[in-house]
Amino acid sequence: MKYISTRGGMEPIEFMDAVMCGLAPDGGLVLPERLPDVRHKLGTWKDLSYQDLALEVFSLFATDIPEPDLKALIQQSYHTFRHEEVTPTVQVGNLFILELFHGPTLAFKDVALQFLGNLFEYILHQRGGRLNILGATSGDTGSAAIHGVRGKDNINIFVMHPRGRTSPLQALQMTSVLDNNVYNLEVEGTFDDCQHIMKTIFSDVSFKDQFQLGAVNSVNWARVLAQTVYYFYSALRVMTQTGAASVQFSVPTGNFGDILAGYLAWKMGLPVHTLILATNENDILCRFFRDGDYSVSQVHPTISPSMDIQVASNFERYLYFRVGEDSSRLRAMMETFAQTRSLQVEPDANGSIDSIFKAGRGDTTSTLEVIRRYSLEKGYVFDPHTAVGVFVAEQQCEANMPVICLATAHPAKFPEAIQEACAQSVTHEILETLKGSQTRCVTIPNSVERVKSYVRQQVSKV
Ligand SMILES: *Cc1c(COP(=O)(O)O)cnc(C)c1O
Repeated sequence: MKYISTRGGMEPIEFMDAVMCGLAPDGGLVLPERLPDVRHKLGTWKDLSYQDLALEVFSLFATDIPEPDLKALIQQSYHTFRHEEVTPTVQVGNLFILELFHGPTLAFKDVALQFLGNLFEYILHQRGGRLNILGATSGDTGSAAIHGVRGKDNINIFVMHPRGRTSPLQALQMTSVLDNNVYNLEVEGTFDDCQHIMKTIFSDVSFKDQFQLGAVNSVNWARVLAQTVYYFYSALRVMTQTGAASVQFSVPTGNFGDILAGYLAWKMGLPVHTLILATNENDILCRFFRDGDYSVSQVHPTISPSMDIQVASNFERYLYFRVGEDSSRLRAMMETFAQTRSLQVEPDANGSIDSIFKAGRGDTTSTLEVIRRYSLEKGYVFDPHTAVGVFVAEQQCEANMPVICLATAHPAKFPEAIQEACAQSVTHEILETLKGSQTRCVTIPNSVERVKSYVRQQVSKV
């Protein structure tokens, strides 16, 4: 399997190169040259364990990694999950809840980042070289990335978070990781300052090359690929259990990474009837799928912070398919978007932007109401991100067909919202044991030069 750029300016490359490059050199995103059709395999896939299914899926895409190595990588990546099914689906009332939060940081990003960390280590062993990951986080992604690469050979990770602006629990999930290759930097500034520092450092190409800097952002192809597995796993089980011929998925969405994986699973032949895209007040994607208008506005902070996003970094991959895999047309659209911060797509003959998608938004009041209602009536507590998805699913789903809602985080990560919604305190042993544990973190001024010199010092030490 070879990989191309959405913008058409890259000679086809192999899987391992696609993983290492992150973004394509022409500024586009990496995609497989063509998607495999797996319809004839679904009958056997429905009985596989999560790991065996992951091996089947990855083998189609990672054709430059020998199967026994891929198998070992998968075992290594998912034994860190605290549920034997890795991503189990449970029934709550009429809904099927796909629990993606059994990984080390209790959020769905672990599914991809546990695998990506092992994959980076494997590729570096094969090829030599080192990788210094630099990232900026407001909470979630940083801790999943740190847990993905802690203790790995030939990899360091530097994660900046804004001092005093990350929730204490989320900060603790990062700073309590004491492995020698993990560096937490608490920046005296905002999350935007952290992102600005990161972008400025990455734009210094000679610094980037000299210190072998890399990123683990959500556009990495291996992350999207890893996320396709649970769509197959859950849909096939729910279809077997209910006898249904297809399913609906509801996905709380920010950067469009998670729902893109569902879209690709559908394109590969999984019988998905609808993908329900749920946003919070930051509803650019919802507006797009309703009226074809993708126009950037201001970011609103909400109680589902991992969805507080305006420009969805993975959206370009979807658009590529939406314009009929025509990279010149896509390139022109992205150029217009870069200038005007807005792009438009015409509806089809039925007035729909894309019939596989439905979209809706849930605001803070609806989110809290959903958490309260399910906690009272079903004794099941959703985290605020999951609750947005459940709210929109209730509005948009079709009756008489199973609807699977992706549960993207454990509620114990968001104690304030849960307390407000249902006057309940939800805990998790992992978070409890963190409290009072030893931490390591350096405070650093809001300065590109100071962060650079810190990275330079630490990397040169080894
Ligand atoms: C990242 C995240 C999301 C959004 O996923 P995208 O791939 O960015 O759309 C939703 N919920 C939680 C808990 C997350 O951490």
